[in-house]
Amino acid sequence: MSAPDLDPEQLDRYSRHIIMDDVGPEGQANLLDARVLVVGAGGLGSPVLQYLAAAGVGTIGVADHDVVERSNLQRQVVHGDADVGRPKVDSAAEFVGELNPDVTVETHETAVSPETVADLVDGYDFVVDASDNFPTRFLLNDYCTLAGVPFSHGAIYRFEGQVTTFTGEGPCYRCLFPEAPPEGAVPDCATTGVLGVLPGTVGAIQATETVKHVVGVGESLDGRMVVYDAAEMTFEEVTVRPNPDCPICGDDPIESVRDVEYAESCAVGD
Ligand SMILES: [Zn+2]
Repeated sequence: MSAPDLDPEQLDRYSRHIIMDDVGPEGQANLLDARVLVVGAGGLGSPVLQYLAAAGVGTIGVADHDVVERSNLQRQVVHGDADVGRPKVDSAAEFVGELNPDVTVETHETAVSPETVADLVDGYDFVVDASDNFPTRFLLNDYCTLAGVPFSHGAIYRFEGQVTTFTGEGPCYRCLFPEAPPEGAVPDCATTGVLGVLPGTVGAIQATETVKHVVGVGESLDGRMVVYDAAEMTFEEVTVRPNPDCPICGDDPIESVRDVEYAESCAVGD
C-alpha cells in the first residue's frame, strides 16, 4: 500500500485521524479526495459544514438561496452578526476557508428544484440534506435515490430531531413517509420556534455519518432512524424497512423527478 501524499502541515492537522487504525493516512486521503454537497447553510448545515471542513473533506458544495437574518444567529453558527444581509453561501464559504485552507468550497446560490437538482447533485459523492422544508427533502430523496447517490437526512422541530442515512442499499425516505403532509400542516421553525442547540446535535450526527461513509468505517444509519428528544434527553431508534410499493425505490419506480409535482404536496402520481 503506498503512503498517501500528505504534506507536513496535513500530517500535523489531521494527526488525530492518522493515528487511528480505522482512519489512518488512507482514510484521511479519502476525506481529502471526497466531494460532499451540503443542501442548506442554516441550523443543520452549520455544524455539518464545521465538522466536514475540520475533518478535511476536500471539496464541499454549499447550496442555499437565502440571506442571513438576525433571527438565524441563535442557531446558525457559521454566520456572525456582521453577516446579516449577506448570502448564506458567501458567509458559510468564508467560515470554511478560515477554518481549513485545504477545503475547496463550491457555492450554489440557488433553490433546489426538479430543474436544478441534477446539475447540483451530479459530481458529488455524498449529499447532506440539511434543508428545512418538505419539497426539498422529498426532491433530494427522489433524485439521490434514482441516481444512486447516498445521502443523510436530518430534520428538527422544537425540541425534537430525526436523523438517518440512505445509502441506496436499504429503504428511502418515501418508504417511511410516502407523501409530504399538506402545506401548512407541519409548522416551520419561524412559527413554532426551535431550541437553538438542537440542530447542533442533529447536524453533528449527520456530519458523523458523512465522515464514516467517506472513510468506510462503522455502521451507518441506513435502515434506522434516530429520534432525539432534547427535552427528555432520549435517543430512540426506529427501524425503517424498504417498501416494495415505494414509488422511488420499489419494484416499479418513477423514471424522473420531472414527473413529480414538488411545489406543494410532493405527491407522486397525482
Ligand atoms: Zn423508498
